[in-house]
Amino acid sequence: MRNLKSFYAIILLLLFSVGIQAQVKPSKEAAMDRFLRYVKIDTQSAEDQNTVPSTRKQFDLAKLLAAELKALGAQNVRISEAAIVYAMVPGNLPDNSKVPTIGFISHMDTSPAVSGANVNAIIHKNYQGGDIVLPNDKTQIITVDKNPVLKGMIGDDIITADGTTLLGSDDKSGIAEIMTLVDTLMQNPQIKHGNIAISFTPDEEVGGGIEKFDIQGFGAKYAYTVDGETPGEVDDETWSARTATVTFTGKSTHPGSAKGMMVNSAYAAGDFLTRFPQDMLPETTEGRVGFIHPYIGTLDIETSTIKVLLRDFDISGLEAKEAILKKMVAATQAKFPKMQIKMDVALNYLNMKEELKKYPEIVENAMEATRRAGLTPKLNAIRGGTDGSRLTALGLPTPNLPTGGQNFHGKLEFNSRKGLEKTVEMLLHLVQVYAEKAK
Ligand SMILES: [Zn+2]
Repeated sequence: MRNLKSFYAIILLLLFSVGIQAQVKPSKEAAMDRFLRYVKIDTQSAEDQNTVPSTRKQFDLAKLLAAELKALGAQNVRISEAAIVYAMVPGNLPDNSKVPTIGFISHMDTSPAVSGANVNAIIHKNYQGGDIVLPNDKTQIITVDKNPVLKGMIGDDIITADGTTLLGSDDKSGIAEIMTLVDTLMQNPQIKHGNIAISFTPDEEVGGGIEKFDIQGFGAKYAYTVDGETPGEVDDETWSARTATVTFTGKSTHPGSAKGMMVNSAYAAGDFLTRFPQDMLPETTEGRVGFIHPYIGTLDIETSTIKVLLRDFDISGLEAKEAILKKMVAATQAKFPKMQIKMDVALNYLNMKEELKKYPEIVENAMEATRRAGLTPKLNAIRGGTDGSRLTALGLPTPNLPTGGQNFHGKLEFNSRKGLEKTVEMLLHLVQVYAEKAK
């Protein structure tokens, strides 16, 4: 009897949950369709500009997103002078103040590393395994060997660029997912949630956009960037990051009358480059091991510069790397006494982990939402930074959630229909997890 009773209870529960699921109306536009529209808009940012946004074309996407947010029914939609889009999706609880306002943030710009103009997205329907050769440059191959994640994507529709540009999944995937979240919530008032703050930012790839972010105006207590990779991962740790600029100053004269006069700074810059420890470079490190990375520079007779990224998960590791650079500078200086060499170091962002520990529910809720979406959650430390690293340091705790995208900043970038849809599902669960915990 008892068993029979619980049997009926289970059947009832099943029917009930199937009923709930069936009641979720699809969004007006699918995440994939949105994504394919957004990647056509060139939003590449540029290094070393004095303005935010670094490229005016980022306004093209900002304006479109603001208009779409308004059309979806979001409130207080606005675009700042720096091209940051803000909006609020009002909660539908009896008292929204009992639930923390949570924010979702993605960035609009694409990496300066590879062109993002005329992106020709290719859909590899019903992927059946094997390497994916990109049609317009057959040397660009997404191999299963380097992308084992492909093994779990059989039957999915994989989206790539054509081999001549990046795809822009980083981070138009995040934008399409957040927009589809808003769309789905608007279609489904029965899904209960608190206030949700939305923002789309410029210049994440060049690091300037977030400086203009209005945390107060955004209105979130906690936030998530949706800018990660494999579904299931929750990034609660980033590099602590500094950039060193080493300037070599010599003396320029006309080469025809340079004897005994010219001091060519390019040679000192060249000497400095030979001093980098080979076991401490991005190309020789992985996992939790940090690096120093000379990534851009200028050569000229009078003045040459080399910029160096310093990255480590721990501040002490970062300090040690800075000390190594100082020794390298001193050694080059000793070899080229007629030159002036100076090094300036700027802080870029700090590992968010220490700050996030104070608010464990932020990561816990993301893990729970991941589970509800049928995925196995996994905490991940990213060998990079996000806008959330900076926001967390400024008082808005902001871990990073996955987008389904892979191979950021290159021509081999890809995402998939399921990658986009799973993320939307996880975000839908996340807003409900917060609402359920309302007191
Ligand atoms: Zn990104």
